[in-house]
Amino acid sequence: MFCKNCGSEIPNNSIACQNCGAPTSLDSGNIGYFCLGCCVPVAGIVLYLVWKDQKPQNAKKCLWGFLLYIIFMAIYIAIYVGVFFIAGITGSL
Ligand SMILES: [Zn+2]
Repeated sequence: MFCKNCGSEIPNNSIACQNCGAPTSLDSGNIGYFCLGCCVPVAGIVLYLVWKDQKPQNAKKCLWGFLLYIIFMAIYIAIYVGVFFIAGITGSL
């Protein structure tokens, strides 16, 4: 196949262009991996660990999705705990 960045010929199974270093379609960092990491965080972190050397762009997307999930969970738990804390203080529970 040919590099979509510089146009030089590269082996079909390569993940990055040997000439310019641009990632190929095998490591496109597809937004789908971000969604996967966010919806199925276990799959996201596993794929990140598997891909972090071979497919760094895809791995990065998986990791970001996973991190977004963690952030949302932290916010959710903070709100949940906060509501119970406030309810406990006011005695309205
Ligand atoms: Zn290239």
